[in-house]
Amino acid sequence: MTTQPLIFTDMDGTLLDHYDYSFSSAIGVIEALVEKQIPIIPNTSKTFAEMEKIQQTIGFNSPFISENGAVVYIPIGYFEQQPEDTVTEGYYWVKAFCETRQHWLSLLDNQASEFAEDFIGFSSLSADELCELTDLSAEKAELALVRHYSEPLLWTADEERKQRFIDHMQKLGANMLQGGRFLHVGGHTDKGCAMNWLAQVYANAYQVGVNTIALGDSGNDSAMLEAADIAIQIKSPTHTFPTIQTSNKTMQSRHYGPKGWAECLQALLLDSPTPSLFTAEEA
Ligand SMILES: [Mg+2]
Repeated sequence: MTTQPLIFTDMDGTLLDHYDYSFSSAIGVIEALVEKQIPIIPNTSKTFAEMEKIQQTIGFNSPFISENGAVVYIPIGYFEQQPEDTVTEGYYWVKAFCETRQHWLSLLDNQASEFAEDFIGFSSLSADELCELTDLSAEKAELALVRHYSEPLLWTADEERKQRFIDHMQKLGANMLQGGRFLHVGGHTDKGCAMNWLAQVYANAYQVGVNTIALGDSGNDSAMLEAADIAIQIKSPTHTFPTIQTSNKTMQSRHYGPKGWAECLQALLLDSPTPSLFTAEEA
């Protein structure tokens, strides 16, 4: 049985530079991986609207996982048959894993009002205000605001209070994830569960064993990294490597962001003339 590598990658701070969102230093490696027909599947806190745009810019036609594992979008026809448990929305087969954003917004409004002064939620921001906070362009900020399954918050109070808020929201059933810049309020989904679901869809569709390779830089990537067959931690200019618990193979990049992304995948999948992942194994 052949083993097919699948690359699941975080975007901000991983494939996209933390400061300018560029992926230019990874282009050569992306092209080489596409040439080898190794799927590169974004697994991100970004929204559908943001990701659709980025997929076009990078030239990916792969499925992608959006809003921290809340939802998987598969271009219609990507697999021969529509995967089970998906619905058709626009040009995609869609698998959702949690409650909608509206549910989390009403929890914040009705049951977390004591913390109302301690954060700025995306729902209260205009595109212009988000630009000022993030260095996103006006057009990109517009796309970032359209969320379907979670609410990102910019925390403005101290860490101790943040922990109290996190505890409070968790008691209300929310899952709290700290991304590179924002604290995300959403359902009990994670990038790891969504990755595993999609990896199984590939395995079923092609009748192959799959090898999941995950890349991420932040705490919100830990579940994905821990669930992967190979975990690659990308160095961040803003924090140290988060601790991850896995007995599988791990790597840490020497370079930041997309340069580190390219460095690790080059070493893992491209440098060796016969990478073990591609060798045929007995079923
Ligand atoms: Mg990140």
